[in-house]
Amino acid sequence: MQPVIVCPACGAKNRIPEEKQHLTPKCGRCGASLAGVPISGKVNHLSDAAFHAQVEQSNLPVLVDLYSPTCGPCRIIAPVVEALAREYAGRLLVFKLDTSSQQMTAARFQIRGVPTLLFFQNGQLVDQLVGAAPRSEIEQRIVQLIN
Ligand code: ZN
Repeated sequence: MQPVIVCPACGAKNRIPEEKQHLTPKCGRCGASLAGVPISGKVNHLSDAAFHAQVEQSNLPVLVDLYSPTCGPCRIIAPVVEALAREYAGRLLVFKLDTSSQQMTAARFQIRGVPTLLFFQNGQLVDQLVGAAPRSEIEQRIVQLIN
């Protein structure tokens, strides 16, 4: 599926063609700027500072992949998370958060190890998976989340 940006002002789903992703996008319905709005269909980088606005106020269900650059299982799971982000474009927002530089979110959700996947719906943590889970198990959680 093609990447989509959900307009925070009016909720319209804007398809952003690959060749236009470097431009400052605007909502096709209401004209609001979509600069800095996370893209559904790819893995977006997340910081502790942006967590509230991008995860807790999202109008799409959210998957957050908490990882560390030095963690082997995290590197195994990363392409799986990327593939799932593409597959669920328009229905799910996916983020990765580097716990070696961003520690507040991990502390808040009492993350004991990486990789940990957190699943949010309407700003609430509803599910989590610890360790490098197989694709089918992650996808099952996503399906529950978006239905
Ligand atoms: Zn709009």
